[in-house]
Amino acid sequence: MRIGIFGGTFNPVHYGHLRAAEEAAVKFLDKVVFVPAHITLDKVPAQAVNSKLRLEMINIAIKDNRKFESSDIEIKRGGISYSYDTVVQFKKMYPGDELYFIVGEDAYKHIKSWKNASAILNEINFIVVSRSKLGFKNLAKLAGFLPDNLKENIVIDYNGNRFAMHRNIAVYFLKITVLDISSTDIRNNFKNNISNLFLLPNEVIKYIINNKLYS
Ligand code: ATP
Ligand code: MG
Repeated sequence: MRIGIFGGTFNPVHYGHLRAAEEAAVKFLDKVVFVPAHITLDKVPAQAVNSKLRLEMINIAIKDNRKFESSDIEIKRGGISYSYDTVVQFKKMYPGDELYFIVGEDAYKHIKSWKNASAILNEINFIVVSRSKLGFKNLAKLAGFLPDNLKENIVIDYNGNRFAMHRNIAVYFLKITVLDISSTDIRNNFKNNISNLFLLPNEVIKYIINNKLYS
């Protein structure tokens, strides 16, 4: 089976995430597992809604989609969430399956700062989804975001829209329907009493309001 691991804060999950997962699945995957981070270094923990509630919102959002699942492994692990640790655990859980890590363009551009970035990129395929209309015109330029020790070895495949890291592993750049939605905007809208209708599933909106998550 081809399995996508979709990591993020998901504070809250929205249609940008869901559509990205859908298009990645249509093109490459049998299922997508949403993995909310417990704590991330780049986001002030005090501001982040409890990881269990973020997972709960994901579960509400994906409940009618058979290809989508969620995982609490980063929550169970506790502490700061590193994608590397998650990839190692997934490889153990799914030894016979083909694993892909899904990231948005913005997250990909920070990949050098990830823990064990080279190791992750050498271990599983990546699907980088576009977050702006411009996305991925210049693959050679995008190679610049890779760790230095990888840059030299990759083969850029312009037709396939991918980097071949080595024989079995690649970074795929997938142009998707760009939905200019972010969790930050959604949180600000809630704070300022601005409508969030059609930016995220209605049932998630209700859950947020009932639990006063962002007011
Ligand atoms: P925040 O504004 O809090 O950073 P976000 O909307 O960027 O939230 P994250 O939880 O940071 O959401 O994102 C998780 C993953 O989903 C990242 O890889 C990110 O690039 C990707 N992503 C987020 N929003 C979109 C979108 N609208 N389209 C495509 N990918 C997205
Ligand atoms: Mg983000």
